[in-house]
Amino acid sequence: MREIPFTLDEHPSFSLPEVGLAVLGHPISHSISPILHNAALGVLSQEEPTFSNWMYERLDVQPKDLRKALDQLAQAGFIGLNLTIPHKVEVLDFLGELDHEASVMGAVNTLIWREDHWVGYNTDGYGLEMALKKVLKCNFQHAKVLILGAGGAARAAAAQAILSNALLVHIHNRSSNNLNNLLNLLHREFDSERVEGSTSESFREDDFWGEDWIVINATSLGLKPGDPSPLFLPCAGFGRNSVFYDMIYNPPQTPFLAEADADGFKNANGLSMLVYQAAKALAIWTGREISAEAMFEAANSHFGD
Ligand code: NDP
Repeated sequence: MREIPFTLDEHPSFSLPEVGLAVLGHPISHSISPILHNAALGVLSQEEPTFSNWMYERLDVQPKDLRKALDQLAQAGFIGLNLTIPHKVEVLDFLGELDHEASVMGAVNTLIWREDHWVGYNTDGYGLEMALKKVLKCNFQHAKVLILGAGGAARAAAAQAILSNALLVHIHNRSSNNLNNLLNLLHREFDSERVEGSTSESFREDDFWGEDWIVINATSLGLKPGDPSPLFLPCAGFGRNSVFYDMIYNPPQTPFLAEADADGFKNANGLSMLVYQAAKALAIWTGREISAEAMFEAANSHFGD
Protein backbone atom coordinates (compact mmCIF):
# COMPACT_ATOMS: atom_id res chain seq x y z
CA MET A 1 0.00 0.00 0.00
CA ARG A 2 1.27 3.47 -0.85
CA GLU A 3 1.78 5.59 2.27
CA ILE A 4 -0.17 8.54 0.88
CA PRO A 5 -3.57 7.65 -0.59
CA PHE A 6 -3.97 8.19 -4.35
CA THR A 7 -6.17 10.97 -5.67
CA LEU A 8 -8.38 10.63 -8.71
CA ASP A 9 -5.96 12.62 -10.87
CA GLU A 10 -3.11 10.25 -10.17
CA HIS A 11 -4.87 6.95 -9.57
CA PRO A 12 -2.78 3.83 -10.21
CA SER A 13 -3.33 2.53 -13.73
CA PHE A 14 -3.61 -1.16 -14.47
CA SER A 15 -3.11 -3.01 -17.71
CA LEU A 16 -3.79 -6.69 -18.38
CA PRO A 17 -3.10 -9.03 -16.63
CA GLU A 18 -3.17 -6.65 -13.66
CA VAL A 19 -6.41 -6.23 -11.74
CA GLY A 20 -7.24 -3.18 -9.64
CA LEU A 21 -9.19 -2.99 -6.40
CA ALA A 22 -9.57 0.08 -4.21
CA VAL A 23 -11.39 1.73 -1.34
CA LEU A 24 -12.86 5.16 -2.01
CA GLY A 25 -13.54 7.63 0.78
CA HIS A 26 -12.98 11.16 2.03
CA PRO A 27 -11.03 11.23 4.29
CA ILE A 28 -9.36 7.89 3.57
CA SER A 29 -5.87 7.97 5.09
CA HIS A 30 -7.08 6.13 8.25
CA SER A 31 -8.28 3.11 6.24
CA ILE A 32 -6.47 -0.18 6.79
CA SER A 33 -8.47 -1.98 4.07
CA PRO A 34 -5.43 -2.34 1.72
CA ILE A 35 -3.53 -4.07 4.53
CA LEU A 36 -6.34 -6.62 4.97
CA HIS A 37 -6.98 -7.26 1.27
CA ASN A 38 -3.36 -7.40 0.15
CA ALA A 39 -2.62 -9.91 2.96
CA ALA A 40 -5.44 -12.20 1.83
CA LEU A 41 -4.44 -11.79 -1.84
CA GLY A 42 -0.92 -12.85 -0.82
CA VAL A 43 -2.35 -16.10 0.57
CA LEU A 44 -4.54 -16.68 -2.50
CA SER A 45 -1.64 -16.09 -4.87
CA GLN A 46 0.37 -18.90 -3.24
CA GLU A 47 -2.21 -21.34 -4.62
CA GLU A 48 -3.19 -19.42 -7.74
CA PRO A 49 -0.33 -17.20 -9.00
CA THR A 50 -2.73 -15.13 -11.10
CA PHE A 51 -3.82 -13.37 -7.89
CA SER A 52 -0.33 -11.87 -7.52
CA ASN A 53 -1.49 -9.46 -10.26
CA TRP A 54 -4.31 -8.15 -8.05
CA MET A 55 -3.63 -4.94 -6.13
CA TYR A 56 -5.73 -2.98 -3.64
CA GLU A 57 -5.18 0.75 -3.01
CA ARG A 58 -6.75 3.73 -1.23
CA LEU A 59 -8.23 6.61 -3.20
CA ASP A 60 -9.24 9.94 -1.76
CA VAL A 61 -12.44 10.83 -3.62
CA GLN A 62 -14.57 13.84 -2.72
CA PRO A 63 -18.37 13.45 -2.85
CA LYS A 64 -18.66 15.67 -5.96
CA ASP A 65 -16.23 13.39 -7.84
CA LEU A 66 -17.83 10.02 -7.04
CA ARG A 67 -19.53 9.49 -10.40
CA LYS A 68 -16.41 10.54 -12.31
CA ALA A 69 -14.35 8.19 -10.13
CA LEU A 70 -16.57 5.19 -10.88
CA ASP A 71 -16.37 5.83 -14.66
CA GLN A 72 -12.65 6.51 -14.63
CA LEU A 73 -11.77 3.49 -12.48
CA ALA A 74 -13.87 1.11 -14.58
CA GLN A 75 -12.01 2.30 -17.69
CA ALA A 76 -8.68 1.91 -15.92
CA GLY A 77 -9.23 -1.79 -15.19
CA PHE A 78 -10.54 -1.71 -11.61
CA ILE A 79 -13.01 -4.55 -11.07
CA GLY A 80 -13.81 -4.15 -7.37
CA LEU A 81 -14.32 -1.14 -5.10
CA ASN A 82 -15.12 -0.59 -1.47
CA LEU A 83 -16.88 2.58 -0.38
CA THR A 84 -16.65 4.28 2.95
CA ILE A 85 -17.69 7.63 4.44
CA PRO A 86 -19.26 9.64 2.77
CA HIS A 87 -20.11 7.54 -0.33
CA LYS A 88 -22.15 4.56 0.93
CA VAL A 89 -25.58 6.08 0.24
CA GLU A 90 -24.81 8.55 -2.55
CA VAL A 91 -23.44 5.72 -4.74
CA LEU A 92 -26.96 4.25 -5.03
CA ASP A 93 -27.66 6.77 -7.83
CA PHE A 94 -24.79 5.48 -9.97
CA LEU A 95 -25.37 1.71 -10.01
CA GLY A 96 -26.64 -0.54 -12.77
CA GLU A 97 -27.70 -3.27 -10.32
CA LEU A 98 -28.26 -3.58 -6.57
CA ASP A 99 -28.14 -6.69 -4.40
CA HIS A 100 -31.23 -7.32 -2.21
CA GLU A 101 -29.42 -6.94 1.14
CA ALA A 102 -27.84 -3.66 0.05
CA SER A 103 -31.26 -2.48 -1.02
CA VAL A 104 -32.85 -3.10 2.40
CA MET A 105 -29.80 -1.64 4.13
CA GLY A 106 -30.08 1.45 1.93
CA ALA A 107 -26.30 1.59 1.58
CA VAL A 108 -23.52 0.00 -0.43
CA ASN A 109 -19.96 -0.72 0.66
CA THR A 110 -18.83 -3.06 -2.15
CA LEU A 111 -18.99 -2.73 -5.94
CA ILE A 112 -18.10 -5.24 -8.62
CA TRP A 113 -17.79 -4.35 -12.31
CA ARG A 114 -19.90 -6.72 -14.44
CA GLU A 115 -19.63 -6.35 -18.23
CA ASP A 116 -20.68 -2.71 -18.49
CA HIS A 117 -21.96 -1.58 -15.10
CA TRP A 118 -21.21 -1.49 -11.36
CA VAL A 119 -23.23 -3.84 -9.11
CA GLY A 120 -23.67 -2.82 -5.45
CA TYR A 121 -23.48 -5.04 -2.38
CA ASN A 122 -23.42 -4.40 1.35
CA THR A 123 -21.13 -6.70 3.35
CA ASP A 124 -21.26 -4.70 6.64
CA GLY A 125 -24.25 -6.63 8.02
CA TYR A 126 -22.63 -9.95 7.16
CA GLY A 127 -19.37 -8.74 8.76
CA LEU A 128 -21.16 -7.86 11.97
CA GLU A 129 -23.07 -11.14 12.15
CA MET A 130 -19.91 -13.20 11.53
CA ALA A 131 -18.03 -11.19 14.16
CA LEU A 132 -20.73 -11.89 16.73
CA LYS A 133 -20.73 -15.59 15.85
CA LYS A 134 -16.99 -16.12 15.74
CA VAL A 135 -15.79 -13.81 18.50
CA LEU A 136 -18.69 -13.61 20.95
CA LYS A 137 -20.29 -16.98 20.06
CA CYS A 138 -23.76 -15.51 19.73
CA ASN A 139 -26.46 -15.40 17.06
CA PHE A 140 -29.08 -12.88 16.05
CA GLN A 141 -31.64 -15.67 15.73
CA HIS A 142 -34.24 -15.37 18.55
CA ALA A 143 -32.08 -12.74 20.30
CA LYS A 144 -32.97 -9.33 21.64
CA VAL A 145 -30.70 -6.83 19.92
CA LEU A 146 -30.08 -3.35 21.27
CA ILE A 147 -28.44 -1.03 18.75
CA LEU A 148 -27.02 2.27 19.98
CA GLY A 149 -27.10 4.83 17.16
CA ALA A 150 -29.29 5.42 14.12
CA GLY A 151 -26.79 6.19 11.34
CA GLY A 152 -25.73 4.06 8.36
CA ALA A 153 -23.95 1.41 10.44
CA ALA A 154 -26.94 1.07 12.77
CA ARG A 155 -29.23 0.63 9.77
CA ALA A 156 -27.09 -2.20 8.37
CA ALA A 157 -26.96 -3.84 11.81
CA ALA A 158 -30.72 -3.58 12.30
CA ALA A 159 -31.52 -4.94 8.83
CA GLN A 160 -29.12 -7.86 9.29
CA ALA A 161 -30.58 -8.69 12.72
CA ILE A 162 -34.12 -8.68 11.33
CA LEU A 163 -33.14 -10.72 8.24
CA SER A 164 -31.56 -13.25 10.62
CA ASN A 165 -34.73 -13.55 12.67
CA ALA A 166 -33.91 -11.58 15.80
CA LEU A 167 -36.74 -11.68 18.31
CA LEU A 168 -36.62 -7.92 18.83
CA VAL A 169 -34.51 -5.03 17.58
CA HIS A 170 -34.44 -1.94 19.79
CA ILE A 171 -32.71 1.17 18.47
CA HIS A 172 -31.61 3.81 20.95
CA ASN A 173 -30.42 7.15 19.64
CA ARG A 174 -29.46 10.62 20.82
CA SER A 175 -31.70 12.53 18.44
CA SER A 176 -35.34 11.59 17.92
CA ASN A 177 -35.28 12.87 14.33
CA ASN A 178 -32.73 10.37 13.08
CA LEU A 179 -34.26 7.64 15.25
CA ASN A 180 -37.70 8.17 13.73
CA ASN A 181 -36.31 8.26 10.19
CA LEU A 182 -34.62 4.91 10.74
CA LEU A 183 -37.65 3.37 12.45
CA ASN A 184 -39.89 4.49 9.58
CA LEU A 185 -37.52 2.96 7.03
CA LEU A 186 -37.33 -0.34 8.93
CA HIS A 187 -41.08 -0.46 9.52
CA ARG A 188 -41.59 0.01 5.79
CA GLU A 189 -39.21 -2.87 4.96
CA PHE A 190 -40.01 -5.33 7.72
CA ASP A 191 -42.56 -6.64 10.18
CA SER A 192 -42.98 -3.64 12.49
CA GLU A 193 -43.63 -5.58 15.70
CA ARG A 194 -40.00 -6.67 15.89
CA VAL A 195 -38.56 -3.14 15.64
CA GLU A 196 -38.84 -0.44 18.30
CA GLY A 197 -36.83 2.52 19.48
CA SER A 198 -36.13 5.03 22.21
CA THR A 199 -34.17 8.14 23.11
CA SER A 200 -32.74 9.01 26.54
CA GLU A 201 -36.02 10.74 27.29
CA SER A 202 -38.30 7.86 26.30
CA PHE A 203 -36.61 4.55 27.22
CA ARG A 204 -38.12 2.36 29.93
CA GLU A 205 -35.54 0.87 32.27
CA ASP A 206 -37.67 -2.22 32.95
CA ASP A 207 -37.45 -3.27 29.28
CA PHE A 208 -33.72 -3.89 29.74
CA TRP A 209 -33.17 -4.59 33.43
CA GLY A 210 -32.14 -8.22 33.99
CA GLU A 211 -32.82 -9.20 30.33
CA ASP A 212 -30.20 -10.76 28.02
CA TRP A 213 -29.37 -8.51 25.09
CA ILE A 214 -26.83 -8.33 22.27
CA VAL A 215 -25.77 -4.71 22.77
CA ILE A 216 -24.08 -3.05 19.78
CA ASN A 217 -22.47 0.37 19.77
CA ALA A 218 -23.06 1.83 16.31
CA THR A 219 -22.50 5.44 17.40
CA SER A 220 -19.23 7.27 16.91
CA LEU A 221 -18.99 7.82 20.69
CA GLY A 222 -15.69 6.32 21.76
CA LEU A 223 -13.63 7.37 18.75
CA LYS A 224 -12.24 10.45 20.51
CA PRO A 225 -10.30 10.47 23.79
CA GLY A 226 -12.58 11.59 26.63
CA ASP A 227 -15.79 10.42 24.92
CA PRO A 228 -18.29 8.95 27.42
CA SER A 229 -19.93 5.53 27.00
CA PRO A 230 -23.08 5.62 24.82
CA LEU A 231 -24.89 3.28 27.27
CA PHE A 232 -27.96 4.75 28.95
CA LEU A 233 -28.03 2.15 31.77
CA PRO A 234 -25.19 0.76 33.88
CA CYS A 235 -23.95 -2.45 32.20
CA ALA A 236 -24.60 -4.36 35.38
CA GLY A 237 -28.34 -3.81 34.83
CA PHE A 238 -28.40 -6.13 31.80
CA GLY A 239 -28.90 -9.90 32.08
CA ARG A 240 -25.74 -11.91 32.84
CA ASN A 241 -25.69 -13.51 29.36
CA SER A 242 -25.73 -10.19 27.55
CA VAL A 243 -22.82 -9.48 25.20
CA PHE A 244 -21.37 -6.12 24.17
CA TYR A 245 -19.98 -5.34 20.71
CA ASP A 246 -18.45 -2.00 19.73
CA MET A 247 -18.18 -1.27 16.00
CA ILE A 248 -15.26 1.02 16.82
CA TYR A 249 -11.86 -0.72 16.56
CA ASN A 250 -9.47 2.19 16.91
CA PRO A 251 -9.03 2.78 19.82
CA PRO A 252 -9.28 -0.94 20.61
CA GLN A 253 -10.95 -0.34 23.95
CA THR A 254 -13.66 2.27 24.38
CA PRO A 255 -15.43 3.31 27.62
CA PHE A 256 -18.37 1.14 26.45
CA LEU A 257 -16.15 -1.97 26.27
CA ALA A 258 -14.23 -1.07 29.43
CA GLU A 259 -17.49 -0.96 31.37
CA ALA A 260 -18.68 -4.30 29.96
CA ASP A 261 -15.30 -5.82 30.73
CA ALA A 262 -15.23 -4.52 34.29
CA ASP A 263 -18.67 -6.06 34.90
CA GLY A 264 -17.53 -9.43 33.51
CA PHE A 265 -19.54 -9.43 30.25
CA LYS A 266 -18.28 -10.93 26.97
CA ASN A 267 -17.27 -8.06 24.70
CA ALA A 268 -15.33 -7.29 21.52
CA ASN A 269 -14.33 -4.34 19.35
CA GLY A 270 -15.16 -3.76 15.68
CA LEU A 271 -11.98 -5.15 14.13
CA SER A 272 -13.67 -8.49 13.54
CA MET A 273 -16.55 -6.78 11.70
CA LEU A 274 -14.06 -4.91 9.54
CA VAL A 275 -12.24 -8.15 8.72
CA TYR A 276 -15.32 -10.24 7.93
CA GLN A 277 -16.90 -7.54 5.75
CA ALA A 278 -13.60 -7.33 3.87
CA ALA A 279 -13.37 -11.12 3.49
CA LYS A 280 -16.89 -11.21 2.00
CA ALA A 281 -16.06 -8.37 -0.42
CA LEU A 282 -12.92 -10.17 -1.59
CA ALA A 283 -14.93 -13.38 -2.01
CA ILE A 284 -17.39 -11.48 -4.25
CA TRP A 285 -14.53 -10.14 -6.41
CA THR A 286 -12.44 -13.31 -6.65
CA GLY A 287 -15.12 -16.00 -6.52
CA ARG A 288 -12.91 -17.77 -3.97
CA GLU A 289 -13.39 -18.58 -0.30
CA ILE A 290 -11.31 -16.12 1.73
CA SER A 291 -9.65 -17.02 5.00
CA ALA A 292 -10.11 -14.20 7.48
CA GLU A 293 -7.01 -15.37 9.36
CA ALA A 294 -4.47 -13.62 7.13
CA MET A 295 -6.51 -10.42 7.43
CA PHE A 296 -6.57 -10.64 11.26
CA GLU A 297 -2.82 -11.28 11.38
CA ALA A 298 -2.09 -8.30 9.12
CA ALA A 299 -4.41 -6.02 11.13
CA ASN A 300 -2.96 -7.10 14.46
CA SER A 301 0.59 -6.60 13.27
CA HIS A 302 -0.39 -3.14 11.92
CA PHE A 303 -1.81 -2.16 15.31
CA GLY A 304 1.29 -3.53 17.02
CA ASP A 305 -0.17 -6.55 18.86
P1 NDP B 1 -23.13 8.02 11.18
O1 NDP B 1 -22.47 9.35 11.19
O2 NDP B 1 -24.06 7.65 10.08
O3 NDP B 1 -23.96 7.86 12.59
C1 NDP B 1 -23.40 8.24 13.81
C2 NDP B 1 -24.31 7.85 14.97
O4 NDP B 1 -23.63 8.20 16.19
C3 NDP B 1 -25.65 8.62 14.99
O5 NDP B 1 -26.66 7.79 15.48
C4 NDP B 1 -25.37 9.75 15.99
O6 NDP B 1 -26.51 10.21 16.69
C5 NDP B 1 -24.46 9.04 16.98
N1 NDP B 1 -23.63 9.99 17.72
C6 NDP B 1 -22.64 10.76 17.22
N2 NDP B 1 -22.10 11.53 18.20
C7 NDP B 1 -22.82 11.26 19.33
C8 NDP B 1 -22.76 11.74 20.66
N3 NDP B 1 -21.87 12.69 21.04
N4 NDP B 1 -23.62 11.23 21.57
C9 NDP B 1 -24.53 10.28 21.21
N5 NDP B 1 -24.63 9.78 19.95
C10 NDP B 1 -23.79 10.27 19.01
O7 NDP B 1 -21.93 6.97 11.32
P2 NDP B 1 -21.92 5.44 10.86
O8 NDP B 1 -23.25 4.86 11.17
O9 NDP B 1 -21.39 5.32 9.49
O10 NDP B 1 -20.79 4.83 11.84
C11 NDP B 1 -21.02 4.68 13.24
C12 NDP B 1 -19.81 4.04 13.90
O11 NDP B 1 -19.61 2.71 13.40
C13 NDP B 1 -18.50 4.79 13.63
O12 NDP B 1 -17.76 4.80 14.82
C14 NDP B 1 -17.81 3.95 12.57
O13 NDP B 1 -16.41 4.07 12.66
C15 NDP B 1 -18.27 2.54 12.98
N6 NDP B 1 -18.25 1.59 11.86
C16 NDP B 1 -17.47 0.45 11.97
C17 NDP B 1 -17.44 -0.49 10.98
C18 NDP B 1 -16.59 -1.72 11.14
O14 NDP B 1 -16.38 -2.45 10.14
N7 NDP B 1 -16.09 -2.02 12.33
C19 NDP B 1 -18.22 -0.33 9.73
C20 NDP B 1 -19.04 0.89 9.71
C21 NDP B 1 -19.02 1.81 10.75
P3 NDP B 1 -27.49 11.34 16.06
O15 NDP B 1 -28.37 10.61 15.09
O16 NDP B 1 -28.21 11.87 17.22
O17 NDP B 1 -26.61 12.36 15.39
